[in-house]
Amino acid sequence: MIEKGRLIVVSGPSGAGKSTVVFKAINGRDKMCFSTSVTSRKPRPGEVDGREYFFIDAARFEQMVQNDELLEHAVYVGNYYGTPRKFVEDKLSAGESVFLDIEVQGARQVKEKMPDAIMIFLIPPSLGELKKRLESRGTETEETIKGRLARAREEYAEADFYDYIVVNDDIDTAANELLSILTAEKCRFAARRQMLQE
Ligand code: ADP
Ligand code: 5GP
Repeated sequence: MIEKGRLIVVSGPSGAGKSTVVFKAINGRDKMCFSTSVTSRKPRPGEVDGREYFFIDAARFEQMVQNDELLEHAVYVGNYYGTPRKFVEDKLSAGESVFLDIEVQGARQVKEKMPDAIMIFLIPPSLGELKKRLESRGTETEETIKGRLARAREEYAEADFYDYIVVNDDIDTAANELLSILTAEKCRFAARRQMLQE
């Protein structure tokens, strides 16, 4: 039996380690992929167009929204972010599981459109540790770090619609928890009911 791909939404404060943990989890695994978003944010040093994001300007972003090319989109600390719809739909129909690293407003839109999506909230062990990680990543000004920490507190207050919380203290443990959630979801009775037909 071909098992359907699943959509996995991973949200959590900027700097919690979402991209680190998601890439650790999918690295070298078949039938799992990451959806690269579009953003109007400027690339950070070391970021490559088409790898971390597709970097586009605000006008092109607005055009994509008009053309209904985005599965979801949001403004986060002054920049646009969105998930290209076609990539996600193509991969899911090919049986691949697709990870989205998106913030809370976009995650809410995905849950409404695709209620089967697995909703995971990934957090650092503490907000103090979050500040340290944002500082050590070395990509943000003090002003942006403040904005991101303020947004983290707001996101915690809005996060009650997620299905799971993963605490990213140790990267390997967090990546294993992510994969274990996916495994358990695949074993759900409802997902495998048709196996009982034989
Ligand atoms: P996000 O995608 O949530 O914004 P990143 O994956 O960019 O976060 O991680 C933010 C910073 O924290 C990076 O410098 C990363 O190397 C570091 N980091 C990620 N996970 C851990 C962890 N478990 N322990 C310590 N540092 C971590
Ligand atoms: P960063 O600028 O640190 O890369 O990302 C800032 C925030 O935007 C993070 O919370 C990240 O999850 C979120 N984000 C990245 N891509 C998307 C997207 O396509 N849609 C939405 N809604 N949020 C996104």
